Amino acid sequence: MVKYRVFVIKENADTSRLMEKIGENSVSFRKLNLYGRTIVLIWPDPPTPITDSSIAYEAAIDGDYVLSTREWKKDNTTITVDGATIGEGFVIAAGPCSIDFDSDVEDFARSLKKAGADIIRGGAFKPRTSPFSFQGKGKQGIYILKKMKEASGLPTVSEILDPEDINSFGDVDILQIGSRNAQNFQLLRKASRAGKPVLLKRGMGNTYSEWLATADYVMEQGNGSVILCERGIRTFENSTRFTLDVGSIAKAKRESHLPVCSDPSHAAGTREMVLPLALSSIAAGSDMLLVEVHPNPTHALSDAKQQITVESLAELSKQARSLVKLLRG
Ligand code: PEP
Ligand code: MN
Repeated sequence: MVKYRVFVIKENADTSRLMEKIGENSVSFRKLNLYGRTIVLIWPDPPTPITDSSIAYEAAIDGDYVLSTREWKKDNTTITVDGATIGEGFVIAAGPCSIDFDSDVEDFARSLKKAGADIIRGGAFKPRTSPFSFQGKGKQGIYILKKMKEASGLPTVSEILDPEDINSFGDVDILQIGSRNAQNFQLLRKASRAGKPVLLKRGMGNTYSEWLATADYVMEQGNGSVILCERGIRTFENSTRFTLDVGSIAKAKRESHLPVCSDPSHAAGTREMVLPLALSSIAAGSDMLLVEVHPNPTHALSDAKQQITVESLAELSKQARSLVKLLRG
């Protein structure tokens, strides 16, 4: 049975008659603007099909997630931030787990760029398992990230934990939603409304379907710039920190129009495993990698075991890009 119907509206078409027809049926609806098009989503499917001259085409979608599927949008969504395009070609976001340093930040930022980073990542508000662990530098961390952006000319991504902090993220290009907050629906809605691209981590305990449904929460607020990020899930296997679900990366690339990112660092848990997991993600179709790189990994105040050096990033970038070339031409 069809659960949802998506009407993609013709450019500049008048939808008033369509909306009246929808009103005459007792169905729920959302009218959204996504990717420059008007979209009308209705559910459940009415007993008699709704037709209207304003509809360019429609899709019937039977599933637990709707807006994130290719069923209504065949082409890949691409997101451009300050010169980096995600969802077309291949990009690397690299930088520290937390910005726990404040000296030589400009040099470090430039070295990340030289080693192959297209985007700089850096945590300022950190979601730590223990309240007694380093919680990040907060606003000051965001300020340091801004200095790294200015020095390198690269766009930035940082995790937002609390919607109340949104004003601190003015200079951050991409808002990251962490694995622990993947189903914090109010945070998803509020982050969406900030109008910036959202890098959406998969909850470590979420199924593939639940992950794509979280993307629907962001898109339902009218923001289609969502990057799906696989970062490893909890399984019975504990030889790596989390189990990187490469199958879900391949599936998301097939079934969703959204760009797919892989975070090999949090799945690996140890430096040695970051490169093989990064390469396997590319083989599965990942458009982007999110890699933790620290100026002095062993002294990092969070995730010290999994952060790599700038030299290792250069090697990872070299191998990753040659694999992309080999597989995708
Ligand atoms: C991070 O990328 O900084 C992070 C905390 O990752 P995750 O939410 O995937 O654990
Ligand atoms: Mn980390």
